Formats: sequence, structure tokens, C-alpha cells
Amino acid sequence: MGKVTGFLEIDRSDRKYAPASDRIRDYREFMLPLSEEATRDQAARCMNCGIPYCHNGCPVNNQIPDWNDLVYRGDWLEASRNLHSTNNFPEFTGRVCPAPCEASCTLNLQDTPVTIKTIECAIVDRAWREGWIQPEPPSRKTGKRVAVVGSGPAGLACAQQLARVGHEVHLYEKNAKPGGLLRYGIPDFKLEKGQIDRRVAQMKAEGVVFHCGVTVGRDVSATALVDEYDAVALAGGAEAPRDLPIPGRDLAGVHFAMDFLPQQNRRVSGEPIGTNEPILASGKTVIVIGGGDTGSDCIGTSIRQGALKVIQLEILPMPPKAENKLMTWPNWPLKLRTSSSHEEGAERDFAVMTKALRGENGVVTALDCARVDDKLQPIAGSEFTLEADLVLLAMGFVSPTREGLLEELGVALDPRGNVAADVRRYAASRPKVFACGDMRRGQSLVVWAIREGRQCAAAIDEALTGATVLPR
Ligand SMILES: Cc1cc2nc3c(=O)[nH]c(=O)nc-3n(C[C@H](O)[C@H](O)[C@H](O)COP(=O)(O)OP(=O)(O)OC[C@H]3O[C@@H](n4cnc5c(N)ncnc54)[C@H](O)[C@@H]3O)c2cc1C
Ligand code: SF4
Repeated sequence: MGKVTGFLEIDRSDRKYAPASDRIRDYREFMLPLSEEATRDQAARCMNCGIPYCHNGCPVNNQIPDWNDLVYRGDWLEASRNLHSTNNFPEFTGRVCPAPCEASCTLNLQDTPVTIKTIECAIVDRAWREGWIQPEPPSRKTGKRVAVVGSGPAGLACAQQLARVGHEVHLYEKNAKPGGLLRYGIPDFKLEKGQIDRRVAQMKAEGVVFHCGVTVGRDVSATALVDEYDAVALAGGAEAPRDLPIPGRDLAGVHFAMDFLPQQNRRVSGEPIGTNEPILASGKTVIVIGGGDTGSDCIGTSIRQGALKVIQLEILPMPPKAENKLMTWPNWPLKLRTSSSHEEGAERDFAVMTKALRGENGVVTALDCARVDDKLQPIAGSEFTLEADLVLLAMGFVSPTREGLLEELGVALDPRGNVAADVRRYAASRPKVFACGDMRRGQSLVVWAIREGRQCAAAIDEALTGATVLPR
């Protein structure tokens, strides 16, 4: 373990953000890394618990106490090898993961968990700087061909694992560039897209063939892929947004978050924004409906675009500021979370229902709202009105879209509309077809997508060759 008395001697100290007044001037990442010495000190706080709850709390089962010890001892190369043995893309999770590992850490019982995410990010950033991350092409080819549909974290992880054991992997992506929501959903200020580009370069050198700008089920027949390849992995995400079917929904100025956010990501990278009208928050009063990650990203993006005012509405009541540890630990607690975007100047209101959208000349101007009780029913007499020039709907995603790919394949869906497949074989109802990530589990997290992509690759490898050396 690190330093036996480290957790007693060293206080938790984490990465800081650049000041809000500076960071909102551009779309660059603003997390300030700890120095090497400070990172080492933080790693020294790890107690190497007999039961490392962090390791279990982490969906990819990162071997956290092991690399904490390696960082403490200064063996960053071995720490990087260890980290990459469980996570293909720690630079993504080291930036955008909500870190369920830290919620599970024993030291979180006193609100001072080891800064696991910061240490993870420091290991992989250093590994890139030192040139330790190189392509790992297979030593032999199996002669089997696999198509992966969708290049989000699930598709990327699945493709990388399969290529490394010698399969010929073709990754199909409808967007112009790979990355899924990492590229077109999550804003650059949380994850700069060069992070994705260098992994894609690594994967190309390992033999993965990228077919971007190809929608399977429209430009290429999905059944033809199943005929042509030995296996097809569906990793198309959960793209159907939850709508708000209330009066005024069709007014101009009311948009899904995922019509707004990708445009800004494309602007930052110099890609055309497409045929849709530009949606900009500049000089506007913006109301974001929905309190999750996507809502936060709408806030940060609106503020950078120069919104006059941003208000976020959440229908659920305000969660407690602190959790009851003995009731929740080591599980993920429900508590009030304040994101970097909230700190940049948004107002938040809870237990609010939007009953109607009003407008003039077809353009939204106001929301009719009411407060709700604990059964989420409107409270009589609590009605109020908010002015708005732009309304962004960020209420989550209900399922994958069915048109095209899934309809054509006719794969069975679970009751929520996701592709039905278990987490052992990842096999969909149609022979040779597998599913992983948000397309299988519903809207989730990057780290779960990586886990599912890795496990799905192991299942496909086993199905194709009768055995696998890929970890689950
Ligand atoms: C705005 C936003 C912010 C988020 N922030 C975070 C965060 O901070 N931390 C976190 O952990 N999670 C976050 N998430 C969730 C996370 O991004 C997703 O859970 C994760 O990306 C899912 O990975 P995936 O590979 O399953 O799917 P996706 O990332 O959705 O990728 C699916 C890919 O499949 C492609 N595709 C779909 N259908 C086809 C087809 N027919 N043919 C070809 N290609 C197709 C899509 O274009 C897409 O590129 C966020 C989500 C959103 C929307
Ligand atoms: S739970 Fe926390 S202290 Fe214990 S091994 Fe994991 S990171 Fe270290």
C-alpha cells in the first residue's frame, strides 16, 4: 500500500477549476491538474482496504489501490499498464466520469475519499506525454470479420478489444467523426476532442477500419452487414429524447438539448453545423428543463455563447445537501450536486412543472409553471410565469431510435425499448448480432459504455473462436 499513515497525515486536496470569469470566455478544458508531488501525496492517502469498495464501485473494476500504490512509489509506467488493463480510455473517464469509485471509497465515510479520478487522469495524461501509449496490433489474425455499429465509448471499446485479439474490425458511424456523445454531446470544456482523435489514431494503427458518415439501416443495409460479417455489434446509443408534450411545444425557440449541444461542438471543431437552423443562446434568457448532466452542459454552453440569464428547472424536489452515509455508503448517494456549469452563474429551481409554453408570432416568450407536491402533482395557487427566449429540453433519453437499424434487423427489445441482450453473452435475438452500451442498457454513463463494450467484445470473441483471453 501507499503510506501506512498517509490518510491520517495528508488532507484530501483535489484539482481546481480555472476561475469562472476566465473559463467562460472560451470552450477549452479548465481543470487544473495537481503537481506530480501533490498527486503522489493524494495516492499515499489510500488505505489499501481489505475490501476495496472503490474497486467494486467502479463499473470497469479499475484496480484502484494497486495504481494508487504505484503512483505513490513513482512507478507511473506500471500504473499506466495497470490502469489500461481494465479501462481502454481512462482519459475520458478521468475527465467526465462522476466517479462512483469515490462515492464507494472507505474514506468517503468521512467525506474525504481518495481523489481517485484525479489520480486516474494524471496517470493517463502522463502516459500520453511520455509516449507510453502506443498501438497494440495483434500478433496474429483470426480471419474473422466483425462490424461494430456506433463509435461512442461502447463501440470504440468493443472495436479496440476485438482488433487486439486479431479480428478484422469495421466500425460504422453515421456522423462525420467518431466518438458518439463524447464528441457531439459532451462539450469541449469538459472533454477536448483531441483526446478522441489520438485514440482513434491508435485504433487505426491497430487495424480498426472506420467508416464515418455511414448510417447503417439507411446508407448501408443492416441485414447485408449481418450476411457479410461473422458478427455485428450494435452500439448505437439511446438517442430518442424524452419530449414535453404540452401546449406550445411546437413554438420556435423550443429545442431538444441534443439539437443545441452538437452544433456548438461542431462550431468549435470547424465542422459545418448541418442543415438545421443555428440555435444560439447569445443575448437570450434561456430556460433549461431537466436537471441532469445534459442540462448542465446546456447551461455551460449557453453561458459561453453569451446568454443574458440561464435558469434550470427540475421537476423533482431538491435533494439533500449531504447524504446519510450509514444509509447509502458504499452506494451512489442521491444528493445535491453542483456542476462547474452551475457555478458559472445559472439559477436553479426544483419541484417545478412546466404546464405550457407561450409565444408571440410563433416564437416562445414565456413558460407557465407550477410547483409540485411530493407526488409530482401541481399545487393549486402555486402557478407562476417565467420569461424565456430559448427553451432547451434536457429531460433524458427514453430508448434507442427504432427507425432504420433496429426496425430492419427486427431484434427483440426489452420493455423499455432497448435492445434485449443479457450481460453474459450480449447476444441479441437475431443470430450473429450483439448489443452493448446505451443501446442495450438505456441512457447511462461513459464508464458503463466502456465496460459493456469490453465485455461484449469478450462475448463476441468467445462466440467466434470458442474461447477468449479478453477480460470481462
Ligand atoms: C449532453 C450529454 C452529456 C453527457 N455527459 C456525461 C458525462 O459527463 N459523464 C458520463 O459518464 N456520461 C455522460 N453522458 C452519457 C454518455 O455520454 C453516454 O452514456 C455514452 O456516450 C454512451 O455510449 P454509447 O457508446 O453507448 O453511445 P453513444 O455515445 O450515444 O454513441 C452511439 C453512436 O452510434 C452512432 N449511431 C447510432 N445509430 C447508428 C446507425 N444506424 N448507423 C451508424 N451509426 C449509428 C451515433 O451517431 C453515435 O455516434 C452524457 C450524455 C449527454 C447526451
Ligand atoms: S476504498 Fe479508498 S482507501 Fe480503500 S482501497 Fe479504495 S481508494 Fe484506497
